[in-house]
Amino acid sequence: MDLSYGPQYEALRADVRDFLAAHWPPPGGAPPAQAEVLAFRRRAIAAGYLARGIPRRYGGSEQRPDPLAAQVIREEFARAGAPGEARGIGTMMLVPTLLERGAEWQKERWIPPTVLGELLWCQGYSEPGSGSDLASLRTRAELVGDEWVVHGQKIWTSDAQRADLMFCLCRTEPDAPKHAGISYLLLDMRQPGVEVRPLREMTGHAFFNEVFLNGARTPKDWIVGRRGEGWQVSRTTLKHERNAIGNADLARSTFDALVELARRA
Ligand SMILES: Cc1cc2nc3c(=O)[nH]c(=O)nc-3n(C[C@H](O)[C@H](O)[C@H](O)COP(=O)(O)OP(=O)(O)OC[C@H]3O[C@@H](n4cnc5c(N)ncnc54)[C@H](O)[C@@H]3O)c2cc1C
Repeated sequence: MDLSYGPQYEALRADVRDFLAAHWPPPGGAPPAQAEVLAFRRRAIAAGYLARGIPRRYGGSEQRPDPLAAQVIREEFARAGAPGEARGIGTMMLVPTLLERGAEWQKERWIPPTVLGELLWCQGYSEPGSGSDLASLRTRAELVGDEWVVHGQKIWTSDAQRADLMFCLCRTEPDAPKHAGISYLLLDMRQPGVEVRPLREMTGHAFFNEVFLNGARTPKDWIVGRRGEGWQVSRTTLKHERNAIGNADLARSTFDALVELARRA
């Protein structure tokens, strides 16, 4: 059985290698700075190697779906130790949610910096007492003038200490049945009404956080979908979360990290 990719993909592999030889690593030999990583990603997107599923008008390279081409690119980027797609909750979950359900201005504003890796997001769903029964969540948002004012607490919020923004579920229609009373809001994490408290795990690391929202504010139109539609929008995000968790590359890199840890132990 011939398991090679075939001449078309080997030609692509040669092109990707040439591109990488020209652009990675940056000159100087020092560990690459964030600005160099971003500049490299911009070039790789322009060359059609990254953000392949994202339309050009939202900062992607809008390539025809081709899993073999994507695999060749991933292999060559990994071989060169070059930065691949920006990883994280934003690219995995929010970008596809905005593509499906966001307003045009929201896509234009938030997708490009997120796919580049400039903007980090966290997911504010779980609350103390509202985990599996998520629709019972109690964080409330009230419209005051042109802003939502948010009070409540989130928990298990991965990466909240690094995130610039949060997509979160808030109760905006307290009199509606519980699934119909929720809205999906976007919120700036760097404001006085947001307090992040890391939860230290037995490993010594703090990946999860508690997030306290004490009068946090967000503009009226930073809502994905309409008022009371947050539950449906959250289903879209969770669909993409499941998809990303099942990703073979993620499993591979997690396994490699585990082997590396075992070697050092
Ligand atoms: C790696 C990881 C990352 C996460 N990151 C985030 C994040 O970024 N943002 C975020 O919002 N959340 C995050 N979470 C939280 C996750 O979504 C919650 O763990 C989940 O909502 C479950 O809530 P809980 O921990 O309160 O468990 P509970 O709801 O208390 O459930 C505990 C156990 O009881 C069982 N159970 C619950 N109800 C019933 C019932 N009625 N009948 C029978 N059994 C029941 C459950 O199956 C479970 O085994 C993350 C979780 C993990 C593991």
